[in-house]
Amino acid sequence: MKKIYLDYAATTPVDPKVLEKMLPYFSQNFGNAMSVHGFGQEGLEAIDDARAKAALFFRCSPSEIIFTSGATESNNLVVKGSLRSFYSIPRKPEEKPHVITTKFEHHCVLDACKFAEKDGLAEVTFISPDKEGLISLNDIKKAIRPNTILVSVMYVNNEIGTVQPVEEIGKALKKINAERKEAKFPQIVFHSDATQAINYFNCNVDELGVDLLSMSAHKIYGPKGIGLLYVRKGTNIKRVQDGGDQEFRLRAGTHNVPAIVGLGEAINMIKTPSTEKKIKQVLELRDYLIKRVLKEIPKSYLNGSLEKRSPNNANFRFDDVEGEGLILSLDLDGIAASTGSACSSGALDPSHVLLSLGLKHEQAHGSLRVTLGKYTTKKELDTLIAKLKEVVKRLRKISGNVLADFQ
Ligand code: PMP
Repeated sequence: MKKIYLDYAATTPVDPKVLEKMLPYFSQNFGNAMSVHGFGQEGLEAIDDARAKAALFFRCSPSEIIFTSGATESNNLVVKGSLRSFYSIPRKPEEKPHVITTKFEHHCVLDACKFAEKDGLAEVTFISPDKEGLISLNDIKKAIRPNTILVSVMYVNNEIGTVQPVEEIGKALKKINAERKEAKFPQIVFHSDATQAINYFNCNVDELGVDLLSMSAHKIYGPKGIGLLYVRKGTNIKRVQDGGDQEFRLRAGTHNVPAIVGLGEAINMIKTPSTEKKIKQVLELRDYLIKRVLKEIPKSYLNGSLEKRSPNNANFRFDDVEGEGLILSLDLDGIAASTGSACSSGALDPSHVLLSLGLKHEQAHGSLRVTLGKYTTKKELDTLIAKLKEVVKRLRKISGNVLADFQ
């Protein structure tokens, strides 16, 4: 059975060209990039090259690129490093910073904020998206307090693919920061988790108006365990991992040279003359899938806005069907997709993203995320649709909810 992979938001295969560039750095050019001898210098040169490629992509200076082990680490560094910076000067006990984020961030942002709140290190406002999965600039503006130091809003939601108004927020914060300077309030640092946006959206950091931006190589046909954090020069952030002087003293730890080389190559491959064409192809396939599913499967719905949505994301909900059952059944048929529900301690937790849109628990259990990539074909989607129709019908039969109008 030929397997079909439709979970590109979870991870992507390493592009053969990326792998080829990485290979010499495992056993041949294996030096520690901090060593002064020739082996080390080879490693350092490779890192500098990858850093330059990333800087070109984000239109920033190479010294503003901090390599990390991935977006989870980058996002933890953002939240914890901002707080560490705040507390690096003596503070009165009643002086607490305020952070604004959203209810549907990835758990690495969400939980870092929740822990900071629980530990009494920060006040946090979690903004709700609207029912289409979009954050409003107005809600962010309303949440700002004199002690706000950080706003963190993801660029593209990883479950429902909705695109947030990052540029709009960046522009507004710039204005607000100018006023705060006069009022002697702390400046607000703007962070965006762009992990799911890199392949498809503008990531020019000046145009976006971000001070911090996270990404991960394994979502862009690069290796796992490597990512970066863009840090605008002068941003208030301190390292949270102590040790060596790597990464401009913001992230200690021996460089993962092959992975950094892979990230550089993967990011360099995104902006090629054929990029627009490839994005259009993925978008057309996604729309074909959405149209057919909604038409051919009764009581099926799309989660999140259709218009403000990543070209590679389709997230469906089916009445009377659990997402987990769907995924397992599709997997038996060789089709890999995913659901937002997470299995924790044997119980199924409904997706926090879908709950944040105002969906009921039973609705938030029944989601199917299909994410497309550069190798996805129409034939694969036809196979998925045919199987999906069968599986949904079967699962509804089991749950006692057969729909007479099922075609
Ligand atoms: N943020 C978002 C939006 C993501 O999609 C992911 C990966 N699922 C992460 C953070 C975590 O990235 P990593 O796997 O590199 O830790």
